[in-house]
Amino acid sequence: MHDRCTRLRRTWRLLIALGALAASAGACAAERAGLEIYFIDVEGGQSTLVVTPDRQSLLIDTGWAGDGSAVFRPGDPHAARDANRIVAAARDAGVARIDYLLITHFHPDHDGGVSELAQLMPIGVFIDHGAPSPQTASNVPDAPAAFAAYEKVRATAAAHLEPRPGERLPLSGIEATVVSSGGATLAAPLPGAGGRNRLCQGQAGAPRDPYENPRSTGVLIRYGAFRFLDVGDLTGEPLFALACPRDLIGPVDVYLVAHHGGPDAADPATFAAFRPRVAIMNNGVSKGGARATYQLLHGVPGLEDVWQLHLSAEAAESNFPDGYVANLDERSAWWIKLVASRDGSFRILNPRTGVWYDYARAPRAR
Ligand SMILES: [Zn+2]
Repeated sequence: MHDRCTRLRRTWRLLIALGALAASAGACAAERAGLEIYFIDVEGGQSTLVVTPDRQSLLIDTGWAGDGSAVFRPGDPHAARDANRIVAAARDAGVARIDYLLITHFHPDHDGGVSELAQLMPIGVFIDHGAPSPQTASNVPDAPAAFAAYEKVRATAAAHLEPRPGERLPLSGIEATVVSSGGATLAAPLPGAGGRNRLCQGQAGAPRDPYENPRSTGVLIRYGAFRFLDVGDLTGEPLFALACPRDLIGPVDVYLVAHHGGPDAADPATFAAFRPRVAIMNNGVSKGGARATYQLLHGVPGLEDVWQLHLSAEAAESNFPDGYVANLDERSAWWIKLVASRDGSFRILNPRTGVWYDYARAPRAR
């Protein structure tokens, strides 16, 4: 491996000297260690790139189509806002293809970018929960058009998986366990979970969208002692079922807050169940990032930091300090980058400031 890296560096130096390539000299994929996660800025949609220590890539959602407007209108892939942001993150990670694409659910802020991305990068295996809820069009009118475009690309895929809760995705070097899909959730607690949750009260709050969001395919990713939870826009009863009356997931290091941190993700019982050290909010300036959620995050026991892809206009003074915010407005498109080690320690980079934040191995009984 080392020889290959040395050769690659020599090649890069030569190409840089020729002015042909502005690659980072330290970007030798073969020398990287650990699990990398890029939380890509897709302006209030979702796109999360997971790169395993073996350099397999799992992309969770693709953001919006075209210029990112709420109307689903894919166009020239080279001009597509979110697809190109994904390509840039993949390039930074040193991967040239998406081995696995997981679409959490069939809304255009999650599956909108697929057809453009597929023209920019090869995509291997498609993972989803089959088809949208029949009522999806009643509150998200563009969802059927986005799904039709997605389905067309999926039909050409090498493989298509529809895993059920409790099943593992076929990645090597990490464990990626499906915790929710198609409205169903884990039937039994994962190892290390199962305690009663004292913050459970009554029943689940009403989800903002009762049709497709609660069908989100969620995954728990484990690399050694490090655990990351991404449940897409899971809200309402299935999100509640993961946390109440018993916690089915166990403590996580990092939780990508459900539904972009919308108000229907602000249930203290879910945070008491997942016990994240770090919460990440993939809100846009005016999408997701509810004031109620930010206010709740300021008081979650054990939560060390909250990272934001964007300042939230609605959250106002409840936003976290700028050092933890990737984008202060819509003029930039920085991602948040996380690198985790097998012992459970991890680092998070704010590329806007260039500052890494270190999180040592879990400092408390978990
Ligand atoms: Zn969404």
